Amino acid sequence: MRNFDYLEPTSVAEACKLLKQHGSEAKVFAGGAHVTILMKQGLYQPKALVNIKRIPELKGIKFDAAEGLSIGALVTHREIETSTLVKDKQPVLCAAEREVANIRVRNMGTIGGNLASGEPLTDLSQIFIALDGVLRITGSSGQRTIPVEKLFLDFYTTSLAEDEIITNVVIPPLPPRSGIEYIRFSSSSVVDKPSAGVAVRLTLDREAVQTARVVLGCVGPTPVRARKAEELITGKRPTEELIGEAGALAAQECSPTSDLRGSEQYKRAIVRALVKRALTAAQDKALSS
Ligand SMILES: Cc1cc2nc3c(=O)[nH]c(=O)nc-3n(C[C@H](O)[C@H](O)[C@H](O)COP(=O)(O)OP(=O)(O)OC[C@H]3O[C@@H](n4cnc5c(N)ncnc54)[C@H](O)[C@@H]3O)c2cc1C
Repeated sequence: MRNFDYLEPTSVAEACKLLKQHGSEAKVFAGGAHVTILMKQGLYQPKALVNIKRIPELKGIKFDAAEGLSIGALVTHREIETSTLVKDKQPVLCAAEREVANIRVRNMGTIGGNLASGEPLTDLSQIFIALDGVLRITGSSGQRTIPVEKLFLDFYTTSLAEDEIITNVVIPPLPPRSGIEYIRFSSSSVVDKPSAGVAVRLTLDREAVQTARVVLGCVGPTPVRARKAEELITGKRPTEELIGEAGALAAQECSPTSDLRGSEQYKRAIVRALVKRALTAAQDKALSS
């Protein structure tokens, strides 16, 4: 690793100012689980690291009946996994976190870093998108809010400007008669990142689907909504046959590549099976909510 300046701002405004000053030569540093590896491999060679860990505004998990659940960017995977508030309001996140990496990474890695890395083989973004989550972002010229879906542009590429910081992710309360399910599949016990991860959220009107979110992760450069599958089931009662058709459609709406986690064809087959299972589970949860 080459030498770099290590900066420790204590407010978001100060951090954004430092990022603006250093431009492309600076990198935000949160838990360091991703940044440290890339620096050791020589893929990141920043002249300045802006450590945001001392910024209190980025910490904590809160709930507001109107706004929903707000998770600060510095909240770690482990904090989400063990939070009684998250377990009460969005238990799907606690369950998903239990499968992320290992306890060492879960203790280090933050939710802001997980999203801002733009790494395709991750779990949480699919769930946030299925829940219509939004990101609060602050830069040197002000604040903005975007749907989580709009963060991801390509492999390791996000819509964040160089001087911008994710401050928190906000998940609105689910409408009544909603069910959400997340299922990830890992093809090998030695590979701790998922080969595919599918999040499905259904909101029902009587027994018909009023709103559907089918989100596919790890099977393309970014998480993607399977919009054709969503359209197919919207307005209808999801029968076994319809769920099967939706799974088949979704498998065509992603762009997996063949790699050590499986061939393209294998991953499409996994997506098809996971979508069917997740739709069935989400429907059961919505019916019993
Ligand atoms: C061995 C291993 C296994 C893993 N397995 C999984 C898995 O199964 N599922 C999964 O979802 N993830 C997995 N991950 C990814 C892991 O969750 C992320 O690496 C971690 O959450 C990153 O968080 P961090 O705080 O350490 O980020 P950092 O390494 O500090 O930063 C990551 C990137 O985000 C930027 N950044 C950080 N915070 C912010 C912010 N608030 N605003 C703007 N930019 C920011 C940094 O500049 C950097 O580019 C794994 C990682 C490892 C190393």
